[in-house]
Amino acid sequence: MENLKQLYVQQLRDIYDAEQQLTKGLRKMADAATSPALKEAFRQHYQQTQNHVQRLERVFDNLNTTGSGESCEAMQGLIAEGEQIMHKDGDHTVKDAALIAAAQKVEHYEIASYGTLCAYAEELSDNKNLRLLRETLQEEKRTDSKLTKIATNTINPDAETSHWGYHEQRIIALYDDFTTARAVIEDLVASGFDRRQLSIVANANDARSQEYVRRLNQPDTTSPDAAEGAGFGAVVGTLTGLGVAVIPGLGGFVVAGLAGAALFSGIGAAIGGGLGGLTAGLMELGLDDETAEAYSTRLREGGTLVIAHVDEEWGDRAQAIMKKHNPVHV
Ligand code: FE
Ligand code: FE
Repeated sequence: MENLKQLYVQQLRDIYDAEQQLTKGLRKMADAATSPALKEAFRQHYQQTQNHVQRLERVFDNLNTTGSGESCEAMQGLIAEGEQIMHKDGDHTVKDAALIAAAQKVEHYEIASYGTLCAYAEELSDNKNLRLLRETLQEEKRTDSKLTKIATNTINPDAETSHWGYHEQRIIALYDDFTTARAVIEDLVASGFDRRQLSIVANANDARSQEYVRRLNQPDTTSPDAAEGAGFGAVVGTLTGLGVAVIPGLGGFVVAGLAGAALFSGIGAAIGGGLGGLTAGLMELGLDDETAEAYSTRLREGGTLVIAHVDEEWGDRAQAIMKKHNPVHV
């Protein structure tokens, strides 16, 4: 390595090998992820990574050289760490959080590499390749922030509350109106359920539902003032799994409790897909497509969902209470 140009080519070959390793790594990570939003993010970045490989081949063509000759040991190590996580036993959501951690370490390695390569390309006035390298750098950065968003909005809060065992069961009951749903919640709480185990999805057009959902959230971190300040036309704050929110573009549904995280990750994954957002969100909660579609229609008409996040023993209790209140469906 006698000059910057040689170093540039050597570093290009290093990241070329890294990207090739990563195409395999990302496919495995998509398979290992449980959250549909995370799976989708990994799949999308898998496709982008294939592009990154091709883009680098164009760079080598432009430089009249080839990409062979380097093996990236750092990427081997990062991928090996990711694979260790995939083979561990444990809670799915906690594993998803760990997969995000592994993936973000990879992204930061790539960001560092492409950042350096862009600086070299600039120094060497290699403008054609600079454009290509910048495109990839932007995609790496966007992937990194997308992963941060999925982690902080959905996966991390889910992982934190996984001790309620709600991954084992969600009991979902549909009622004709908000007033009945409210009575069910009070009944469940009176029977020993923790409010934080319960979620509600209601039509936001009902003023009582707005007020009630706010109260339901009050013992926790959501401030009712913040909700009022932002108004009900916008998503209120960041959804931490214990938030009040309106689904934009869907006529307004209020969501409170743990179900919010799953619901919103489904809605997020549906953007760009064919499914209706709310239906996709309900499927993320565990409903099959037909039931989700039917529930979604009913919700638009003013129906309300009560969801209990429970283990097996509490599941039976929840169902018994829910069935006393004349549900449309449990
Ligand atoms: Fe890449
Ligand atoms: Fe990447």
